[in-house]
Amino acid sequence: MEKRDYYEVLGVSKTASQDEIKKAYRKLSKQFHPDINKEAGADGKFKEISEAYETLSDQEKRANYDQFGHAGPQGFGGGFSGGDGFGFEDIFSSFFGGGGGNRRRDPNAPRKGNDLQYSMTIEFEEAVFGKEKEIEISKDEICDTCDGSGAKAGSTPIKCTTCQGHGQVNITQDTPFGRVQTKRTCPVCEGTGKEIKEKCPTCSGKGRVTKRKKIKVTIPAGVDDGQQLRVSGQGEPGVNGGPAGDLYVVFRVKSDARFERDGDDIYYSLPLTFAQAALGDEVEIPTVQGKVKLKIPSGTQSATKFRLKGKGVKNVHGYGVGDQHVIVKVMTPKKLTEKQKQLLREFAEISGDIPEEQGSSLFDKIRNKIKGE
Ligand code: ZN
Ligand code: ZN
Repeated sequence: MEKRDYYEVLGVSKTASQDEIKKAYRKLSKQFHPDINKEAGADGKFKEISEAYETLSDQEKRANYDQFGHAGPQGFGGGFSGGDGFGFEDIFSSFFGGGGGNRRRDPNAPRKGNDLQYSMTIEFEEAVFGKEKEIEISKDEICDTCDGSGAKAGSTPIKCTTCQGHGQVNITQDTPFGRVQTKRTCPVCEGTGKEIKEKCPTCSGKGRVTKRKKIKVTIPAGVDDGQQLRVSGQGEPGVNGGPAGDLYVVFRVKSDARFERDGDDIYYSLPLTFAQAALGDEVEIPTVQGKVKLKIPSGTQSATKFRLKGKGVKNVHGYGVGDQHVIVKVMTPKKLTEKQKQLLREFAEISGDIPEEQGSSLFDKIRNKIKGE
């Protein structure tokens, strides 16, 4: 069954606001919810509505859907294009080992080469800003000496005499149920349909040799741990003139001592002295985009969050920039001099020892009740 357009499913226009989408979804889901609607087909309809809403209610998924249609949200196929035929895909779109139709029907039909996978560990900042890097991989290449035929110079492979070039042989077996005929890969040519009388000395008749090859990889800015880049045509060579497979570079991003990343947002823990937090201060905060000044208001509590808008990571698909979240951590001094201790005692005396509550919560009330205050 053809998948219906998500906008059509929800009955909204392509330019509908998030509010309109939400309203349409609420209305339709009430109408078709299987607990309410017992009509045949209501269940499928509800699933369709939920799926459409899941995509259209998410900014990123929606943008992807607008651009690529149904192929987008699942595959993210080609969501990133950095020229040079590079295509960017998320990890869940992987189809390793498939190699594109390797079923051996006609041994002479062109077949796509196998895909390769390479795991690349990169620095935190390289992931944020992107970088061009060279990797070296070991892979099969067409043998230069015989041009992939596997035959010695001056000779050509002939049609396999065992299978007549079909790559398969029929085997007849007598079984208790009668005579059974099955097809097997030809043992002489191993399915290639060709027989090489005089083998190429470079590749020993295989037609390909394993070589170390340097490949330039452009790390896309904003790439995250586990995401992958497709470098098209850098997999193993194709068979019978088929296209080469692709190389999938999976990124492993190293952690950073200062920053923690969550999607396009960055989290930074800011240590403050008790005096800074109590009196207020102006501090310099490191961000991936350089240092910025941040005003700390007086009376700042531990765990207070500040947001530095747009100081996070540029989205890898080009959907804006994340933020940096600064989380305050008020540090209690560990080592104190006699003078510091004296001053703190005086401070405590003036303050009257009881911590000032920032408004009394229900939790505080219960706690005070237990304590009998
Ligand atoms: Zn060769
Ligand atoms: Zn054969």
